[in-house]
Amino acid sequence: RAKGAGRNRVEVFDDALRARAMSRLRTEADLRLATDRHQLTLFYQPIVRLSDQSIAGFEALIRWQHPERGLISPADFVPLAEDTGLILQIGRWAMQEAAEQLAHWQRTHDSGLFMSVNVSGRQMLDDDMVECVRHVLADTGIAPDTLKLEITESLLMDDPGRAVSMMQQIRSLGVHLSLDDFGTGYSSLSYLHRYPVNSLKIDRAFISGAGNGDRREEIPRIILLLAKSLDLDVVAEGIENPSEVTFLRGLECRYGQGYYFSRPIPAPDAERLLALPALP
Ligand code: C2E
Ligand code: MG
Ligand code: MG
Ligand code: MG
Repeated sequence: RAKGAGRNRVEVFDDALRARAMSRLRTEADLRLATDRHQLTLFYQPIVRLSDQSIAGFEALIRWQHPERGLISPADFVPLAEDTGLILQIGRWAMQEAAEQLAHWQRTHDSGLFMSVNVSGRQMLDDDMVECVRHVLADTGIAPDTLKLEITESLLMDDPGRAVSMMQQIRSLGVHLSLDDFGTGYSSLSYLHRYPVNSLKIDRAFISGAGNGDRREEIPRIILLLAKSLDLDVVAEGIENPSEVTFLRGLECRYGQGYYFSRPIPAPDAERLLALPALP
């Protein structure tokens, strides 16, 4: 009897595994078609100057509008896209799309506006990456320093030597590099001086609750000091309330981003915000 129950458990386990594998295969097949079927879209989240809450730029954040499953967030398909290599095609599309949108908004609203685009490690280390960036710049005509590529340290750890070389090649095109989710990587400080980056984005884990006199706020304080001495710009991510804004302003943090100002929104909605002198 015990043996029988065991075997049943194994079968249940098998079924669960099989179901997961099937679902993954289906998602992968769907994702392969998603680009051709125009199901991928970019949302834009404003990045504001903390001094006056005017919009300095946007971060492009990818979404998958699935015909049956609705809007799928990047956490639920970007890892799969990385494993399968589909991220190369998707990443190229995202950079081109975001740059076209930026070119348009620079013409219609603000010629100094910037656009941040997330780049995965696989894409960053790809042989065609530099050529791809060069092509996007030539095709859209945007000033190179208004394009910012966001990279995470964890993704650079696989091959730090090659990563630094790729970063230098991209920097030589005039494009800016930003270290995303800063403070969450395990070797942040040991490599920071070697990375040719222009800015740091303080991870929202360190922003949440800042301004309440909590010990946690020592982290953004130190990151801002460090950035100042390395001459790096700083964006604080995940700002959700006014006390966080006041706190970061007091530390002279230049840029902020978060639900307090705006969630990531479709292009037409972002365009309406651009018409305002500052975000409320
Ligand atoms: P990320 O680059 O760190 O982006 C910030 C994430 O925090 C976004 O989630 C954004 O919606 C969310 N966020 C912004 N403000 C707040 C806030 O005030 N509170 C909270 N709780 N969350 C906030 P999202 O859009 O789901 O993106 C998740 C991650 O997916 C991104 O993290 C980025 O690593 C990745 N990703 C997004 N778009 C792309 C892309 O085009 N290519 C690649 N390779 N990765 C992407
Ligand atoms: Mg980012
Ligand atoms: Mg981030
Ligand atoms: Mg983050």
